[in-house]
Amino acid sequence: MKTGLNHLYIPGPTNVPDVVRMAMNVPMQDQRAPDFGGLTIGIIKDLMPIFGTTKGRVMLFPGSGTGAWEAAITNTLSPGDKVLMARHGQFSTLWVDMAQRLGLDVDVVDVEWGQGVPVVAFAEKLAADKDRAYKAVFVTHNETATGVTSDVADVRRVMDVVGHDALLFVDGVSSIGSIPFEMDAWRVDLAITGSQKGLMCPAGLGILAASDRAIAASKANTSRRCYFDFGDMLKMSEGGYFPYTPPTQILHGLRRALDRMHAEGLDMVYARHARLAEGVRRGVAAWGLSLCADHPSNYSDTVTAIRVPDSIDARDVIRIGYDRYNTSFGSGLSRLAGKAFRIGHLGDLNEGMTLTALAIAELSLAEAGAKIAFGSGVAAAQFWYAEANATVARLAAE
Ligand SMILES: *Cc1c(COP(=O)(O)O)cnc(C)c1O
Repeated sequence: MKTGLNHLYIPGPTNVPDVVRMAMNVPMQDQRAPDFGGLTIGIIKDLMPIFGTTKGRVMLFPGSGTGAWEAAITNTLSPGDKVLMARHGQFSTLWVDMAQRLGLDVDVVDVEWGQGVPVVAFAEKLAADKDRAYKAVFVTHNETATGVTSDVADVRRVMDVVGHDALLFVDGVSSIGSIPFEMDAWRVDLAITGSQKGLMCPAGLGILAASDRAIAASKANTSRRCYFDFGDMLKMSEGGYFPYTPPTQILHGLRRALDRMHAEGLDMVYARHARLAEGVRRGVAAWGLSLCADHPSNYSDTVTAIRVPDSIDARDVIRIGYDRYNTSFGSGLSRLAGKAFRIGHLGDLNEGMTLTALAIAELSLAEAGAKIAFGSGVAAAQFWYAEANATVARLAAE
């Protein structure tokens, strides 16, 4: 018998705020009613600043982030097209796998898990591509398996330097809505997310924003697709409708989640994620453990992947957290299984929640056999939060 709160510290699905859950408790409605379209149109308008775009076309497909990956590929590229991708964690690995299975000719750059997108290797390959064979460059903005955020602007810069006109596709599933994303400034052609991470909703929507170039590419390729066709979707979404039945409850939840994000202010949402994440990292440092992310410049503000000492198994840490403390941590994925666990810190979160995550992680680590001084990570995070929040209060008073 479990009592009390179930603590969810996985990097998606994230905690859904009570008001968002309640906003979804609405009767079924006619998705073709004359007054339905306004809901979708408002959602699209309020998603645009979260993607950092004023001109991209936002599309909401029933599905999840993986569905949005597939929509991105099958709408804009043809089987046999050459694309440039990197593998540096489980999510980038899965996207490579999908691209291969959909028939693309994938040039894969493998780098150590814990590193970001290999910008220098990308630059060399793009520069060497004299006949412009690469049709697209894929970037996993935030590798959720390793807690690594890559610099999309840097990738755009090297594409500009060598004058390569490939499309730029970005997986922002665990970044968009939690850390700054600048589709227009970075000239991203297709940006991808889902409803259940930074957007604080249940899973059920794969969300894309497409540039004019991506839309043009969607009209000139030989891939087969039907359900995920951009053309059908864009025609219907002009009026706020869908080519088929949308998950109307999730749309109501998303409406409320967007209201919350804009009421807080996107800059404040991003600052909060940065502040909470830094507390978690200081806690981990105080334990004497290291991160999977190999450099401070690529630390993720949405998820922290923590290496456990060689003498213990991270699966025990996760199991103890779940069985004894009603707490879910993220597991070490694929080659990190047993070696790492993850604390997701994105979406509807505050200091009390990250401190709880650290406190329960201390218990779970110690009970799994790690040498952890109780309270050390919690105290390090408390010191940081006190300092950071004093600074916030001072700035607000000025
Ligand atoms: C969660 C995640 C996905 C997969 O999204 P689903 O919604 O589970 O299909 C893809 N990429 C990244 C970076 C993710 O974090």
